[in-house]
Amino acid sequence: MAEPLAINGGTPVRESLLPYGRQSVDEKDINAVVEVLRGNWLTTGPEVEAFEADFAAACGADHAVAVSSGTAALHAIVHAHAFGPGDEVVVPALTFVATANSLLYEGATPVFADVEADTLLLDCNDAESRLTSSSRAIVAVDFAGQPCDYDALDRLSAARDIAIVADACHALGATFRGKPVGNIASATAFSLHPVKHVTTGEGGMIATADPAAAETMRRFRNHGIDTDQRQRLARGAWYYEMNDLGYNYRLTDIQCALGRSQLAKLPGWIARRREIAGAYDRAFAGLDAVEPLAARPDSGHAYHLYIIKLRPDAISATRDEVFAALRAEGIGVNVHYLPVYLHPYYRERFGTGPGLCPVAEDACARMLTLPLFPTMSDEDIRHVVDAVTKVVTAYEV
Ligand SMILES: *Cc1c(COP(=O)(O)O)cnc(C)c1O
Repeated sequence: MAEPLAINGGTPVRESLLPYGRQSVDEKDINAVVEVLRGNWLTTGPEVEAFEADFAAACGADHAVAVSSGTAALHAIVHAHAFGPGDEVVVPALTFVATANSLLYEGATPVFADVEADTLLLDCNDAESRLTSSSRAIVAVDFAGQPCDYDALDRLSAARDIAIVADACHALGATFRGKPVGNIASATAFSLHPVKHVTTGEGGMIATADPAAAETMRRFRNHGIDTDQRQRLARGAWYYEMNDLGYNYRLTDIQCALGRSQLAKLPGWIARRREIAGAYDRAFAGLDAVEPLAARPDSGHAYHLYIIKLRPDAISATRDEVFAALRAEGIGVNVHYLPVYLHPYYRERFGTGPGLCPVAEDACARMLTLPLFPTMSDEDIRHVVDAVTKVVTAYEV
């Protein structure tokens, strides 16, 4: 007899809930923050430039601009490219809402494209079929930490005279054919939220090779004003001008110090994420009902998320039943994401509904995100493998 499932009154695989992602903060990080708190600059100080320089180096970019969130990074990119009313921008259906919302902030129109069934990355053929004479750009979302097919996107960009911008909020540390994400698209957004690779609490970064765009985005994060407080202090002058409408999207020195300290650990963390993903791949290869996402051989995957799809013909339970059973076993599974156009706001505003992107909808109905973060122990990994095996076996047909 197999162990009864925890959801049916059996003993759970583990007592405490293992989250799907979490930050790793050590004493070095804490000391870096405390040092800033003892100093003169809590914001617009020297840590901001230092973090930007470290970040640019880490992702092979000429310029990095620190902002208050990944969403602010996307908004700054949309603003710097001047996407606005009448402009269409193609975004994948399967992403966090902020990818599309950032277009709405500037009055541009998101046009949803479907994803590839095996990787859940933007389907470039489907994206092409949704281009019109109003299309200005495609947003490449490096879903789960795997880069999009930037070769195909570059061809589309040249053939149709559109920009390729990237939402790499999942993909800090990833590479496409040896090139780091951050040095491929015209501008790339990163998030520094605690579930992402490196955190500043809340925070974001834009990487770009375009110095003019970087300047525009630096003004945009500071109300559209041409100088910041420290530059004026250095000049002994009070005068400044606002030439453009911006926001207060600044990242503090407290946060930048934390970010710098965190960034130094990125290579080791990526290695550990890949190790955990490899352990899952091996463990699930023998389970008929479990289909991990495909990894492209030409990519360096950053594994922000480890996602499986359930094969409906091999399991008698729904995804929501498997989700509940795994939560009961102590595994903090999640779902990434409901296709953006199925959220009530988008349905009401754009009249979208089921059927628009069938591959994304099918994936959403079958997918589960398993725990993955670099400080997971080998025992944590074993708990995930044991719980998935236990639940899937109990429901196998
Ligand atoms: C996290 C995330 C964002 C938003 O980042 P925040 O820092 O939370 O604002 C945008 N797009 C994607 C794909 C994300 O995962």
